[in-house]
Amino acid sequence: MGMPELRTAAYFTLGCKLNFAETSTIGKILASQGITRCQRGGTPDICVVNTCSVTQMADKKGRSLIRRITARYPDATVVVTGCYAQLKPEEVASIPGVDIVLGSDEKLRIEEFLDRWLRERCLTTAVTPMKDIRTFRHSCERGDRTRWFLKVQDGCDYFCTYCTIPFARGRSRSPRISELVDQARRVAAAGGREIVLTGVNIGDFGKGGDETFFQLIRALDQVEGISRFRISSIEPNLLTPEIIRWVARESRAFMPHFHIPLQSGSYEVLRLMHRRYDIGLFEDRVRLIRSEIPDAFIGVDVIAGARGETPERWQEALRFIENLPVTRLHVFPYSERPGTVALTLDGEVPVHERHQRVATLTDISERKLRAFMQNAVGTEQEVLWEAPVRPGAPVHGFTRNYLRVVAPVGKEVVNTISNVRVTGLHLSESETLSAVPS
Ligand code: SF4
Repeated sequence: MGMPELRTAAYFTLGCKLNFAETSTIGKILASQGITRCQRGGTPDICVVNTCSVTQMADKKGRSLIRRITARYPDATVVVTGCYAQLKPEEVASIPGVDIVLGSDEKLRIEEFLDRWLRERCLTTAVTPMKDIRTFRHSCERGDRTRWFLKVQDGCDYFCTYCTIPFARGRSRSPRISELVDQARRVAAAGGREIVLTGVNIGDFGKGGDETFFQLIRALDQVEGISRFRISSIEPNLLTPEIIRWVARESRAFMPHFHIPLQSGSYEVLRLMHRRYDIGLFEDRVRLIRSEIPDAFIGVDVIAGARGETPERWQEALRFIENLPVTRLHVFPYSERPGTVALTLDGEVPVHERHQRVATLTDISERKLRAFMQNAVGTEQEVLWEAPVRPGAPVHGFTRNYLRVVAPVGKEVVNTISNVRVTGLHLSESETLSAVPS
């Protein structure tokens, strides 16, 4: 078909890995129409802004990014999509210079709307209400030379009280295992070695159908040519002992690397958040991983200063987290989201106190990570090498348990796996190990 008036596009992405992967998919869709990525310093005909809405701050960032873009490229066709567009289409459409507002379900149908815009030249807002979205839109994107991101699930049915994702991304839905296996095979054929499974609530894969997440990972594990799989993040109640034991004992390519959202180490706060587990279940899962795979990387998300996190509960949470044998914490300050049940809860924590709690948790995280890295010193590790992050930077790679390693190796090792002996913590690159080939 082609759109002769629109030749180049620039892409702007905020938010999560899924958004970044979907922006790449949009790029591919437009490339198939002959619209190429605008060179640095050029003036794009189209600007695609893929927004996030995970916090109020994210909305604000989205708005100011859109304003900067419309000011800088007044003649460009500006398309705004992503969670902010889905949740507040009118607000987005009212920003001067925005031409097309696409919701989550319309995101990957961009060419249709550009085509319409070329014919009609009037502001289009196309947003399907979340409750009506049932379709799963595929996304499988290369992050860099070695790592690919395969979307296996979208949406969430959990409605945790602080979160708007279920409103922004809709009900939980996923494709058939056979489709995902085909995509993984295509990644292998294109030379990809590692696949990260992405989604909003991945463990919910297959909900309401006849397939399960456990069946999915066992099927993917058989795909030849893919050396490594990682599960980006999984709810603790869905990371069953069965899955943990399978990764530890039987899986060929699923790495000893887990990312599990805890959100709060206080029993009561978890209850107020309507999470589907308690601290007892969480601790059981972590201890099972540790006993099955002593050197597994366990990353944990924590929200600091949520509604109801009184000083006593905070102290309880802190003790719980300190004693948890995890590798690192990903800490976020609680942020109010309009329309969420959390806003009706008592016990607001002042913002400066939230930040103090973030700092305390960050300290704990740094200590834990350092100890974990220190434990790796002197060990043999299998590393999958990646292209340097910038020209002149050293080749780096990741161990099976997701530790970054730099070693005196040449570029020819990129995209291959080899063994190293870890010699110490890297002096100038943070969170990196030094190693020598072994
Ligand atoms: S599980 Fe809870 S926090 Fe995660 S996306 Fe669903 S509602 Fe949001």
